[in-house]
Amino acid sequence: MIFRQLFDRKSSTFTYLLAERSGGEALLIDPVQENTEQYVRLIEQLDLKLVLAVDSHIHADHVTALGALRERTDCASAMGAMTKAECVSVWFNEGDKLCVDKLQLDVLYTPGHTSDSYSFRLADRVFTGDTLLIRGTGRTDFQNGDAAAQYDSLFGKLLKLPDATLVYPAHDYNGMSVSTIGEEKRHNPRLQIADKQAYIELMNGLVLEDPQLMDVAVPGNRRCGLKAAA
Ligand code: FE
Repeated sequence: MIFRQLFDRKSSTFTYLLAERSGGEALLIDPVQENTEQYVRLIEQLDLKLVLAVDSHIHADHVTALGALRERTDCASAMGAMTKAECVSVWFNEGDKLCVDKLQLDVLYTPGHTSDSYSFRLADRVFTGDTLLIRGTGRTDFQNGDAAAQYDSLFGKLLKLPDATLVYPAHDYNGMSVSTIGEEKRHNPRLQIADKQAYIELMNGLVLEDPQLMDVAVPGNRRCGLKAAA
C-alpha cells in the first residue's frame, strides 16, 4: 500500500493519500485548496491516478480542494449523504465502501462535531476526521454540532474498534501525527468521563473562538471550494 500523511501548516490539517500500488488509483482524504499543486505533483511522482477526493465533513477552518482537484484531474468528489453541498459527485452513507483498486475503506457515520461527519476505516487504521483527535475530540458548538451524538459516535463506534487500530485524525495542533484506539481510550482526557451526561457537560462547558476562516470556508466548501457563479 502507498500511504502519505500530508500536513497543512496554516490550518493544522492532515490530508491523506492512499493507493494500493504504484501505477494504480489514488484517493485523497481532506485535501486543502492551497496545496492542490503539491498533491497533483506528488500523485504524478508516485505514478498514480487520482480517482477520488473525499471530505470527512464540511470544514470550517480551511477551503477544500475537492473542486480544484476535480477540475485538474477529473477525479470524483465525495462527501457524506448528510452533507449539503451541491458540487459533490458521489455521496456515501454508513456501511458504504470507498474503493481504489483493491483498497476498500468502510464508511462510518460519526456525527457530533458536525451533523455531516464521517470516519473511514481501512484494515489496521481509521481516519477519524474531527470526531476523534489525538488526546482530544472535535468541538461540538457549531455547524449542527451535538455533544450527545458525538458521545455515541465515540463510545458506540470508534472506541469499539480493536485497540491496536491506528488513529489518523483530520487535525493536530500539538505535533502528534498518529495514535491508536487503545491509547486514546486510556489517555484522551475527553474520554475519561463517567457517562454521556458528563460528556455533554464537558463539551458544552468549553469556551472556544470561531475559526478565523469560518465565514469564508463553510459557504465556500458547500461549493467544493469553487467560486460562486456570477
Ligand atoms: Fe472540522
